[in-house]
Amino acid sequence: MTLLVVGSVAYDSVSTAAGTRDDALGGSATYFSVSSSFFTKVNVVAVIGDDFLESDKKKLLDYKIDISNLSTESGNTFRWKGVYDTSDVNIRETLDTQLNVFENFNPILSNSNKQSDYLFLANIAPDLQMKTLTQMSKRPKIVALDTMNFWIDDHKKDLTSIIEKVDILFMDNKEISSFTGETNLIAAARRIEEIGPSTIVIKKGEHGVIMFNKGDVFTAPALPIANVIDPTGAGDSFAGGFMGYIAKTNDTSNENLRRAIIAGSVMGSLAIEGFSIERFNKLTKNEIEDRFSRFIDITSFKTTGIT
Ligand code: AMP
Repeated sequence: MTLLVVGSVAYDSVSTAAGTRDDALGGSATYFSVSSSFFTKVNVVAVIGDDFLESDKKKLLDYKIDISNLSTESGNTFRWKGVYDTSDVNIRETLDTQLNVFENFNPILSNSNKQSDYLFLANIAPDLQMKTLTQMSKRPKIVALDTMNFWIDDHKKDLTSIIEKVDILFMDNKEISSFTGETNLIAAARRIEEIGPSTIVIKKGEHGVIMFNKGDVFTAPALPIANVIDPTGAGDSFAGGFMGYIAKTNDTSNENLRRAIIAGSVMGSLAIEGFSIERFNKLTKNEIEDRFSRFIDITSFKTTGIT
C-alpha cells in the first residue's frame, strides 16, 4: 500500500554526551521515511534549499524513497539546533529553529500522491499539514499526525483544526499535557478523543509508549539501550516503523496496531544508536527481526497466578 509523508527535511546541529554534529541530515520527514522504507515504499513531500547537498539526496534515494515531490527553492534548508543534557538524555533544549525555505512552502501533491492509502503529517507547520490533507482526492485509510512544542505553544489554533481531522495522533507526554492542560495521560487522551482522533499514541522516551485505541489500552516499554548516541529523530523513526508496518500489512485492526507499536519501538531504538540517520546505514531486515524478538522476550512472562 502507498505511504505518503509531509514534513521537514533539515540540517540539524546536535550536541549530546557522545559528541556533536553540525548540519547533519535530519528532519521529521527524513527520519520517518528512512525508517518506514524498511517496510514499504514511501513518498516524501517537503522542501529543501539550494544549499542541500546532492550526496544527501543520494542517501534518501539509496533507501528507495520517492523524492520526486521534494521541491528545491532558493534559500537555505530548514535548520534546527538542539542540545541534550549530558546526564539525562531525556532532557533536550532547542537552541535555534530557522524555518528558511519552509516560510513560503506550498506543498503540491502529484496526482498519484493524492491517492495515497496512508498519510503521515510529520512534525511541520500545522497549516502545511492542512494544505496537504485537503489535497487528497480520496480519504486515506489512516491519517496520522505528529507535532512538537514549537507548534503547540505558538500555533495552537491551526494545530487544533488539523488534529480534528486525523485518525491517529502522536505526541510525547509533555506535549499532550501542554496541549490538553491535563497531566494525567488517560484524561489527556480522552480530551483528544473528544476533538477527533480515535487513536492516541503517547511517547514517553526511555519509558516506552502508551496507545489508546477505541477503548483498548496498550503499553510497550522502550528497549533498554546501553549506548545512546543521539536521541534526535527517535519519535519520527518510531512513527516511520509504526506507519510503515501498517502500510505493509494493510491491516488497521487493533491487534495489528499493537504490533505496529512494537515495530515503531524497534525503529526508534535503532535511531538513537547513531547521529543523524547513520544507524540505518547497512541495517538489515535480520537485525530488525532480532530486535522484534527481543521485545517479545522482555515483555512476556509465565504465570501460575499471583496469590
Ligand atoms: P524528534 O527528535 O523525533 O522530536 O525529531 C527531531 C527532528 O525534528 C529534527 O531532525 C529536526 O530537524 C526536526 N524539527 C525540529 N523542530 C522542528 C519544527 N519546528 N518543525 C519541523 N521539524 C522540526
